[in-house]
Amino acid sequence: MIDTHAHLDFPQFDKDRKEVIRKAKQEGIIRIINIGVDLESSRKSVELAEEYDEIYATVGFHPHDADKLSLNSLKEIKRLAQHPKVVGIGEIGLDFYRNLSPRDVQTQAFKDQIKLALEINKPIVVHIRNAWDEGLSILKKTEAKKVGGVLHCFSGNLGQAKNGLDLGFYLSFNGTLTYHKSKSAELVKKLPLDFILAETDCPYLTPFPHRGKRNEPSYVKLVGEKLAQHFSPLTYQDIERITTVNAQKLFRLNVKFKPKIAYLIRNSLYLNLTNDCTNSCTFCVRFYSDFVKGHYLRLDHEPNYQELIQAMGDFQKFDEVVFCGFGEPTLRLDLLKRIAKHVKEKGVRTRLNTNGEGNLIHKRNIVPELLGLIDVASVSLNVDTSEKYDRICKSKYGRGVFYDVIDFIKECKKLLPETVVTVLDLLETDLKKCEEITKSLDVKLRKRHYKRVG
Ligand code: SF4
Repeated sequence: MIDTHAHLDFPQFDKDRKEVIRKAKQEGIIRIINIGVDLESSRKSVELAEEYDEIYATVGFHPHDADKLSLNSLKEIKRLAQHPKVVGIGEIGLDFYRNLSPRDVQTQAFKDQIKLALEINKPIVVHIRNAWDEGLSILKKTEAKKVGGVLHCFSGNLGQAKNGLDLGFYLSFNGTLTYHKSKSAELVKKLPLDFILAETDCPYLTPFPHRGKRNEPSYVKLVGEKLAQHFSPLTYQDIERITTVNAQKLFRLNVKFKPKIAYLIRNSLYLNLTNDCTNSCTFCVRFYSDFVKGHYLRLDHEPNYQELIQAMGDFQKFDEVVFCGFGEPTLRLDLLKRIAKHVKEKGVRTRLNTNGEGNLIHKRNIVPELLGLIDVASVSLNVDTSEKYDRICKSKYGRGVFYDVIDFIKECKKLLPETVVTVLDLLETDLKKCEEITKSLDVKLRKRHYKRVG
């Protein structure tokens, strides 16, 4: 995992800093972002980043220290920020709870440092406490979205979380998640995991069961374990991978991602046969990300049979093999059937996630060809009317494709062991009507959340 918010330069680590960093590495914490809070701490953060490969730094003035931010210190922060291992400006923001600097001074320091981040094009690490309306409004007005950032130690409500996400910000959670009756625990479950980071904020906010002692980066795993409980059936490995990729993307940690053709989510092995699709759904993940659940799915070429078999490895240990990926799998029907045959011969369950346009693609009824090869067809109907399907799913086959998808579902229901229809909880989807449709088709309905993929 990555601890995205640590203060290892603080005196609490003077006696055993090296040991704490060694322990974190040993526990699999691959990167630590050390956060500056004033000039001295920003300098020390950069020094730590120079000394340890796994440490990266941010530089800036915390709202508590906003009254110490002079023109000269801002210049020095700018100089430090050019360092290649400085990955952001922070922590900056507003703290109207403790008010250790006057509010107008905090506001000005926040704006000045956002301006600096925009100048040098690095993301910001934001601390907001009891100042959500003011803080979010500044982020909006200053167009901080252009560099993005993280709302660290997120303590706002769901509405404020959504506003932060709309502004392009990640939300970060720490040891407070593990506390009894934690408010963030209720909130976090409702958020898209692709925009969540894990942090310790060490030496503070130590997670259970070490509460009361000094916090340290290796404890970020306890935050990951708590996230895994909240996002069950996703596993700790899923959380570890997803939050790590989120941090690597935000702080541009210079990672070269390799496209995955076989990838694990929960205990299901997904296959990425193609990035091509006959639809251009307005909500499609391919249009705003290269990732699904922390897996990079943007292919550099379409995989062949041998490549897939090799990437699948010992797939018998998984619950199922799912034809899904970053496109419509039935576009590669022959390959799909060949792989599915191989999987079924080994006695493993198969699932096809499809947009239901396979019969249009191949100009014949392909469902009988899937008999004995596919156990579950999961067909995306998405919406409840043909007009909405045309507008939202934008099929290359033109208008009225909704009815072709319904026909495909009927064929699947007739011939395959299990058929599931998925719809999306978009504002415009009438979920009651979707229930009626699936009831009349006698198939299962699965409601998917908008912007939650995989
Ligand atoms: S059918 Fe799926 S892959 Fe194709 S555009 Fe829609 S959401 Fe994307």
